[in-house]
Amino acid sequence: MPDDVLLEVLRRPVCAACERAAHAGRQYLRGVLGDGVNDVKVRALWRRDGGLCAAHWRVWRALESPPLPTAILLHDLLGAHLEAAPARPACPACAVGTGEAKRTLRTLARLRPATLDAALAGEARGFLCLEHLAEMPQGAARERFTARLRALRDELAEAIRKADYRFANEPTGPEADAWLRAIRAYGGDV
Ligand SMILES: [Zn+2]
Ligand SMILES: [Zn+2]
Repeated sequence: MPDDVLLEVLRRPVCAACERAAHAGRQYLRGVLGDGVNDVKVRALWRRDGGLCAAHWRVWRALESPPLPTAILLHDLLGAHLEAAPARPACPACAVGTGEAKRTLRTLARLRPATLDAALAGEARGFLCLEHLAEMPQGAARERFTARLRALRDELAEAIRKADYRFANEPTGPEADAWLRAIRAYGGDV
C-alpha cells in the first residue's frame, strides 16, 4: 500500500488498521463477485473454509448485483456442506482483512516520526483501536497512537462538560464526535 493512501486514512475518524482491513475485505469480495465465482481455486477455498462470517455476508449483500453469483456460490457451498461440514469454519474475507491490518501496522511502525506527526496534525482524526494498538510494536508510532487515545479520553470529558447547560453556549469543537470515535476504538463497526 502506498504511504499516501495510509496518510489519507489517518485524516479520517476511524482506526486506520480496521479501515484498511474493511477496505481489503470489500475489494476481495468485489473480486469474487466479479469473476471469482467461476474461479475453481476460490470455489475450493470457500468450500474448505465454510463461506463468510456474518459481517462479510452483510458486505456481500450490499455489493452490486449479488443474486446470481450468490446462487452459484451457495449452490456449490451448500452441496459441499451437506457432504461434510468444514472442520473449522473460517471467513476468507476476514483472512484478507487481517493480512491488510498487519501490513498497515507495519507501515505505520516504519514511518518517520515527523511524517506521522504531520499526518496526525490539525484536523486529522485517525487513531488505532485498542486491539490494533496492542498489536503495534513498541516505538515512536505506538507512543503516538497511545497519546491519541489519551486525547480522545480528554475529548470525551470535554463533551460531557459542554453538555452542562452553563457551558452549552460554548462553540462545539472536535469533541463533538468523540463518542463515535470511542465506540470505534473499542472495535465497534459504526
Ligand atoms: Zn482497529
Ligand atoms: Zn469475515
